[in-house]
Amino acid sequence: MGTSLSPPSRIAHLEDKAPTVSTLCSHSSLQIFHGARREGFRTLGITPGPPPRFYEAFPLARPDRFLEVPTIRALPEYSDELRRDGVILVPHGSFVEYLGPEAFTRLDVPVFGNRAVIEWESDRRKERVWLESAGVRMPKRYETPDEVDGPVIVKYYGAKGGKGFYLAKNRAALERFQPTGPHVIQEYVLGTRYYIHFFYSPLSKDGYRVGSGSLELLGMDRRDEANIDELYKLGAQEELHRVGLEPTFVVTGNVPVILRESLLPQIFDIGSRIIERSIELFGGMVGPFCVEGIMTEDLQFKVFEISTRIVAGTSLFISGSPYSDLREPGLSMGRRISQEIHRARDAGRLSEILS
Ligand code: ATP
Repeated sequence: MGTSLSPPSRIAHLEDKAPTVSTLCSHSSLQIFHGARREGFRTLGITPGPPPRFYEAFPLARPDRFLEVPTIRALPEYSDELRRDGVILVPHGSFVEYLGPEAFTRLDVPVFGNRAVIEWESDRRKERVWLESAGVRMPKRYETPDEVDGPVIVKYYGAKGGKGFYLAKNRAALERFQPTGPHVIQEYVLGTRYYIHFFYSPLSKDGYRVGSGSLELLGMDRRDEANIDELYKLGAQEELHRVGLEPTFVVTGNVPVILRESLLPQIFDIGSRIIERSIELFGGMVGPFCVEGIMTEDLQFKVFEISTRIVAGTSLFISGSPYSDLREPGLSMGRRISQEIHRARDAGRLSEILS
């Protein structure tokens, strides 16, 4: 089911109306509002129920206004009002997840980026088709337990917030696994995790050229994940299993990282391939995306996931990162999004960055 308005009619009014940058008050919203304010935009925070009190503590990031909705699922009912106010919605992981990927895709409100990407990201199988056909190296996927020839991680379909994954160090250990739903068996990659924050601008004509625009590297982080990160302190996995302790990957925070400079060509190559293939498959991904993978000891980066919008780890770099500072000192991902809106509006090219 599509939206009731075509993309051009959803966006046309923004050519002569001052836009308001808006998102759901959660995830990376502080950074999105802060960046929008620095670019001179009005801001609107969407909250299910009263605004969270902690916004009072961050005056530079607090949105100018709040829209209280009874539940996030009721948001589509406010579409006309949001369009009248010149709102541009900035998607983030929690926004898309809580509203539901399909409902988000159908919203009759201008959205930053190409909403067609949601369909390709929210289905693990389609995501793999996209990345593998782009020539990106991914962890091996086993069709049956019999094929398993090393350590594996078993993941259920649909986000479970990092819970319910199963680790097995070999085929014999996998036999103990009792699936409770559709899942995939994936090679467990041994190495170091990096979450790479890219921005693709279809408007830019300078920098690292990809497609008709350019690819920017704005930062990198590693996620703190409970309880897996510290579980080793309790000893070997089998012992832990025997006492009923299973690993989980619930994200609790983020730490900044950088890569060896000699690995940057590999990372840019991966980012470019993902963009080029997205242009062929669904008209291209626009704006922030995060490539999540593991660097092995033979320096091969294996991508286990892509997030096709701003990720929470970018909030480490509200006043710039070791990478974004080399483009423009103090540039955050939140500000970069609003900068792109500015540029597109000035050039009469909003339809290329909104959907
Ligand atoms: P989210 O939606 O929060 O990104 P998810 O449910 O889609 O999570 P993944 O991102 O695929 O799950 O994986 C969660 C975590 O599991 C990763 O951050 C990483 O620590 C670990 N992980 C995932 N795949 C692998 C793999 N193939 N080898 C080793 N570790 C992995």
